[in-house]
Amino acid sequence: MGLRHSGAPAIMTAHPVNAHPARGLHVITWGCQMNVYDSARMGDVLRPLGYAPVDAPDQADMIILNTCHIRDRAAEKVFSELGRLRLVKEARKEAGHSTIIAVAGCVAQAEGEEILARAPYVDIVLGPQTYHRLPEMVARAARAGGRVIETEFPAEQKFDFLPESEAPQTPGNLTAFLTIQEGCDKFCSFCVVPYTRGAESSRPVVSVLAEARRMVASGVREISLLGQNVNAYHGEGPDGTIWGLARLAYALAEIPGLVRIRYTTSHPRDMDDALIAAHRDLPQLMPFLHLPVQSGSDRILRAMNRGHTADEYRDLVRRLREARPDLALSSDFIVGHPGESDADFEATMELVRDTGFALAYSFKYSPRPGTPAAGAGMQVPEDVKDSRLQALQQLLRQQQDAFNQTMVGQSMPVLFTGTGRKPGQIAGRSPWLQPVHVQGSPSLIGQEIMVRITERLTNSLGGIVEEEKEYA
Ligand code: SAM
Ligand code: SF4
Repeated sequence: MGLRHSGAPAIMTAHPVNAHPARGLHVITWGCQMNVYDSARMGDVLRPLGYAPVDAPDQADMIILNTCHIRDRAAEKVFSELGRLRLVKEARKEAGHSTIIAVAGCVAQAEGEEILARAPYVDIVLGPQTYHRLPEMVARAARAGGRVIETEFPAEQKFDFLPESEAPQTPGNLTAFLTIQEGCDKFCSFCVVPYTRGAESSRPVVSVLAEARRMVASGVREISLLGQNVNAYHGEGPDGTIWGLARLAYALAEIPGLVRIRYTTSHPRDMDDALIAAHRDLPQLMPFLHLPVQSGSDRILRAMNRGHTADEYRDLVRRLREARPDLALSSDFIVGHPGESDADFEATMELVRDTGFALAYSFKYSPRPGTPAAGAGMQVPEDVKDSRLQALQQLLRQQQDAFNQTMVGQSMPVLFTGTGRKPGQIAGRSPWLQPVHVQGSPSLIGQEIMVRITERLTNSLGGIVEEEKEYA
């Protein structure tokens, strides 16, 4: 699909391009992996209507902008992109072609009416919970002058109404995303997700396992399970009981050919003993966990409504490392949450020093309309946020470099997924998600092979293949 992504930590996927589709579909995807997955599923839903992916918007009979609300000035960015798409629509009209423009995702959910009012050339606005209804919306929009907005949280579960995904979402790919959980009931003070993605819900086990098996049958070797709070997963099992993420992971680990399982994003409160034990027991579960802590100050964690203390997080990390000694952590941090003092910020720095992160995303707090923190007093001045963010990022960068440096001289399994940038190179990922490249035969692509790391580059590792025998 003509998928375009921006914003971290999104991963780019591409669908094969159909030279002469009956109807061209171009999807622009911003934000997280869940949006990448949703975009692929919107393609699945529209396929029976004759829509097939095209690379350029000016070849598309339908353009979907799948938006993300988490970053600052999200709505403004949407309106500016829509301005560009308007020109595409007008140029196509002059050439005698009609174009449906749809806005999907979290900004659509939050700003639906505003989008229809400010961008009269937009035909469809749909929230993340309604894309199974896209064919019906397209039919309504096709009627003269029809404009459609679907931002309710429907009573039905969209996963029950979606066609089977084209497996994998990215044919030919060895890694795939699989959304198993959506929404959030935690209402952190700063976050829009509970308002845009709705209440927490989990897909039934049978449907998750069936999709995973289809993915593996078509060549996928690594599946990343996705959810806003993925470890809050509580799907209905085939026996009618509720399964947690740990039980699901054990079942997935039994699928022959599935060599790697990851999951993101986890909340510290939902990291239960069973899931910690799964990290001890399942070699398929990769030793790299994104476990956002946001702050190291108990006062701020309370103000954020995170539901745990800094020491509880430290203890959780200790138990995880006891279960899986090579486990590395990544995290998200917010600096300058309302009320954050110098001492609170220093507590965050201390937690970072104590824990040691392999990777982290850090942000300056910025108010999201409608969230409790946005209306709170004691907003931190911008220049204070800037200097705290700089200090934190410097420390996190040092930790990331130190972690990557420890890899040099180590042997590790690398799942090779494609060719490298230089001639004769093949590239893949380490268990800790670091890009690794070696000189090697393309026949190794698709296999997990032992590699000895010989050098650390800025954002990747270089190594040599130890044995051209698949790691098992
Ligand atoms: N569910 C995850 C959790 O509980 O940690 C986080 C999901 S949120 C989509 C991704 C990250 O965006 C958060 O971890 C937070 O660091 C950042 N973020 C969310 N709202 C923010 C805001 N108002 N200002 C700055 N950063 C924010
Ligand atoms: Fe947002 Fe994560 Fe908090 Fe839910 S748990 S409100 S998604 S930050």
